Amino acid sequence: MELVRDGKNRYRLVRTGKMRVDAVVYVNEVLLPLLRDDKSLEQLAHAAMLPGVINPVVGMPDIHEGFGLPIGGVMAVGEDGVISAGAVGMDINCGVRLIRTDLRVREVPVPQLKNLMLTVEDYVPTGVGKKSKHGELSRRLFERVARTGVRALVEQGVGAAADLEYIEEGGCLAGADLDAVSREAYKRGETQLGTLGGGNHFIEFQEVAELLEPALAERWGLFPGQLTVMIHTGSRGFGHQICTDFSRSHVTAAKKYGIELPNKGLACAPSNSPEGRQYFQAMACAVNFAFANRHLISHDVGRAFADVFRKEPEKLGFGLVYDVAHNIAKWERHGGRKVLVHRKGATRALPPGHEDNPRPYRETGHPALIPGSMGTSSYVLAGTERAAATFFSVNHGAGRVLSRGAAERTISREQFEESMGAVLYNIRNFKEIVDESPLAYKDVDQVVQTLAEIGLTRKVARLRPLAVIKG
Ligand code: 5GP
Ligand code: MN
Ligand code: MN
Repeated sequence: MELVRDGKNRYRLVRTGKMRVDAVVYVNEVLLPLLRDDKSLEQLAHAAMLPGVINPVVGMPDIHEGFGLPIGGVMAVGEDGVISAGAVGMDINCGVRLIRTDLRVREVPVPQLKNLMLTVEDYVPTGVGKKSKHGELSRRLFERVARTGVRALVEQGVGAAADLEYIEEGGCLAGADLDAVSREAYKRGETQLGTLGGGNHFIEFQEVAELLEPALAERWGLFPGQLTVMIHTGSRGFGHQICTDFSRSHVTAAKKYGIELPNKGLACAPSNSPEGRQYFQAMACAVNFAFANRHLISHDVGRAFADVFRKEPEKLGFGLVYDVAHNIAKWERHGGRKVLVHRKGATRALPPGHEDNPRPYRETGHPALIPGSMGTSSYVLAGTERAAATFFSVNHGAGRVLSRGAAERTISREQFEESMGAVLYNIRNFKEIVDESPLAYKDVDQVVQTLAEIGLTRKVARLRPLAVIKG
């Protein structure tokens, strides 16, 4: 596959064979060699073969191989094109939420931070397959949550109506329909609201380490030395089951509509076919569930803060900075046309003034939240006009360099401990946490710099980890 340099930090996979459009990947000299280690380029080329795909398919600097589309991939498709579950990802609306407080890290001693971790763990179930501690609420509200997202929780007094303006899509993607969801997905979802899940999902206490655009950061409620909380999770077994169901049924659908599939992971159907619409309706249910999941978790984190600091969360300045999805497909307007943008491991970042920004962020553009790893920095970014080239998308993290297996095989206990420095973590068993080592991820500074350097994003604040609760 021929990758040609196409400007600073930008490479082009020129259309050949069955590709309908080019693919463009954003990497710098440090990240470029990593591209050759997996199948991510081939997967971008495959996406470029799908009917209706719009030029170009985009790879972000945190790109790595995934199921179907690579993680760190953006695929926009016209109204006459397809929708693909594999191009959204297994964890539908996996995403990140950032919470601010008025607390200064230097005023929170380590024992108190440890206490905060333990208290959060009492409220929020962590780990694969865990069920909700809000069992009754989860079951009773499940259908409403799937249809209306965070609003269903706000109506029950969980958070405030004003929170909705600080969540992508106002916490509800329109078009959800539970009739499109399998019995199995329903069953997995209804018991899991308010749970973190396993693997790379986390609740992390962070310190605002550096303001890169102080005026903007302050306007967004951030200040140096501030204690913040970042939450990373998604739609749990519910989204996973929906992705599994449609990745299977869309193999048949593709055949029915005469679509040649470059790989099974990109199983798809025309977005305007019954099968395509059904996936969108089901996906929207999972999107709404995931927004509500992060909302309920942050409510629980707020309760933990109240317990530990003996003050109501509002009195501690506890409030939502923003909540963004990084695995989602949405209808948006780009270049004057309506397109279905699949973002898989990619974050929307709208520029200042864009009309799709939520009201509080209309003038500045909304924050884009970028986790790095549990031992390195995370970032708050802002969108720019130039990012029109990526359908207003930026990276979603640092991205893996080592698969879970490779991390387990190659990272020693000493290396792991060194990479964590003074950061506290909840998991005692080395074997269970080593695959999440900072060493398993790319250098987040390089990844963020790749886009910032060429004006596709702006760095607003850098956060550093203090303590992490891993799923
Ligand atoms: P993904 O959504 O692809 O599973 O992960 C998103 C990104 O989160 C990863 O690419 C990685 O950079 C980042 N990440 C993974 N674990 C942690 C963690 O414990 N803390 C922080 N701050 N970032 C993490
Ligand atoms: Mn994620
Ligand atoms: Mn996830």
